[in-house]
Amino acid sequence: MLGYYGEYDVIVCGGGTSGVSAAIAAARAGAKTLIIERVGQLGGQMNYSGPPGFSFAWLYNARHEQIVGGISKEIYDMMLEDGHAMAEHHQKWRAAYQFNYIDPDWFGMYIYQLLTEAGCEFMLHSLVTEVVREGDEVKGVICEHPGGRSMVLGKVVIDCTGEGEVCYMAGAQTDILPKDLLEPATVAFTCDGVDWDRFMEYFMNHLEEFDFNHIYDPYINMNEDEIRDEIRKNVKTIEDVGEIMGFVCLHEKAMKVGEWHNYSGVGFFIMPREGGRIQAHFQHSSQVGHVDCTDVRDLTRVEIEAREQNEIAYKFFRKYVPGFESMYITRVCPEARIRETRRVVGDYILTAEDVAEARKFEDVIGKSSFPTGPKHVLPTDENTTNGTLTVASVARHPKDGGSNDIPYRTLVVKGLENILVAGKAISTDRPSHNRFLQQTMVTGQAAGCAAAICAGKGITPRQLEESVNELQDLLLKQGAILYGTH
Ligand SMILES: Cc1cc2nc3c(=O)[nH]c(=O)nc-3n(C[C@H](O)[C@H](O)[C@H](O)COP(=O)(O)OP(=O)(O)OC[C@H]3O[C@@H](n4cnc5c(N)ncnc54)[C@H](O)[C@@H]3O)c2cc1C
Repeated sequence: MLGYYGEYDVIVCGGGTSGVSAAIAAARAGAKTLIIERVGQLGGQMNYSGPPGFSFAWLYNARHEQIVGGISKEIYDMMLEDGHAMAEHHQKWRAAYQFNYIDPDWFGMYIYQLLTEAGCEFMLHSLVTEVVREGDEVKGVICEHPGGRSMVLGKVVIDCTGEGEVCYMAGAQTDILPKDLLEPATVAFTCDGVDWDRFMEYFMNHLEEFDFNHIYDPYINMNEDEIRDEIRKNVKTIEDVGEIMGFVCLHEKAMKVGEWHNYSGVGFFIMPREGGRIQAHFQHSSQVGHVDCTDVRDLTRVEIEAREQNEIAYKFFRKYVPGFESMYITRVCPEARIRETRRVVGDYILTAEDVAEARKFEDVIGKSSFPTGPKHVLPTDENTTNGTLTVASVARHPKDGGSNDIPYRTLVVKGLENILVAGKAISTDRPSHNRFLQQTMVTGQAAGCAAAICAGKGITPRQLEESVNELQDLLLKQGAILYGTH
């Protein structure tokens, strides 16, 4: 039997980083807001199935101008003050690739407090399974949860499911690549018990074994050897490095005897814990490719294969990597993390050209300095020993060390009324896929503010496109950065 749950100004579907940002922003703007989440834990890939390897990175562009403020920065600052985040590291060689590492479990606790203080209501353990639609207008959603099914009505619905699930249910146009070209999915795990002094001694004495290509930025223009020189001069502790990729000789040695697998390179990130403790976080050690995670058979296969790969990776680190001999697992994420599925088609599709040209838009709602591509894609030849390969191999960085604007229209779902999308599924072409954490919080906050304004004025998100001044003013009041950077 279908029950009636209630009526809201703004319904946020999905409580990952985009969802919590949307809900905090909407509730702070005075809207009666409900956040609906499939599991009990809010935070999505940040903490439930995360964290992302480099946490809140890319809050700055390669010029080290701050380009992301708002709820992301507020949470980071709060956690830093309380000892649950690591200080920012601004080294020249990292360009925009700076880390604002936070403790994911504390993030998961703080967000309930922020949502409660903002006045947001929660509907947890509830899966959105249908959309209530009249013509082109979305009127609400139907959820399944312990005890049955309920209908919730809302003036504006925001899809923050990461996979554009609600937009898809509502009949929106979406784009998804053939599954061999989609990025692989991963189950991440974290370990403690690492002797960091011993590891750092090995690292500093074998820098040629490690890979720094992926942090190359044309604005800084340092090659790998120059980066290694900078590391020799400036790096003291594991916190100064943050991400370790490569282990070329150890990798080759293990591959020869079947003690590493074909599906990823060797490396890890770090996770800050209470009292300055650092753990090793493995988010690339399993990669299951050739899967479309909107297909339950593929998604099921990911969960099983990723765990097999992680076991191999765990044994490899204990056996081969100095300092990791006594490591032990403290967390295996409860479910796979999905890099890529659908992108929703909106009133504007952000392009690779927009990113590379660091384009500015009249309807700016936030900024990003993340380059386009390359994407992780697994080779179709199962016998390769290269681990992760990439297509779209040329990364295009925003020109002159700058950043591109994200236009409001990328959140407005083409062909439908009263619905916005935020997070990983916003409207972009494939190379400029906005799947990074800070991008999801920027678009979440903007969608929340836009929805609150629309609900208050009785207009649709599409009508708001005609004049976004009020939205931009509200975002600025909430600490967002919209202007004044390259
Ligand atoms: C392996 C991997 C490594 C990554 N590394 C990095 C990195 O180093 N740095 C970085 O910045 N980013 C990284 N990312 C990307 C980043 O973590 C995610 O893109 C981002 O967290 C997604 O946020 P989101 O809010 O869009 O979606 P999610 O965090 O996925 O949140 C979606 C939420 O919606 C809920 N939901 C889904 N469907 C429904 C439904 N029907 N009803 C109710 N609730 C629903 C889910 O339970 C979830 O809580 C990585 C991603 C992966 C997979």
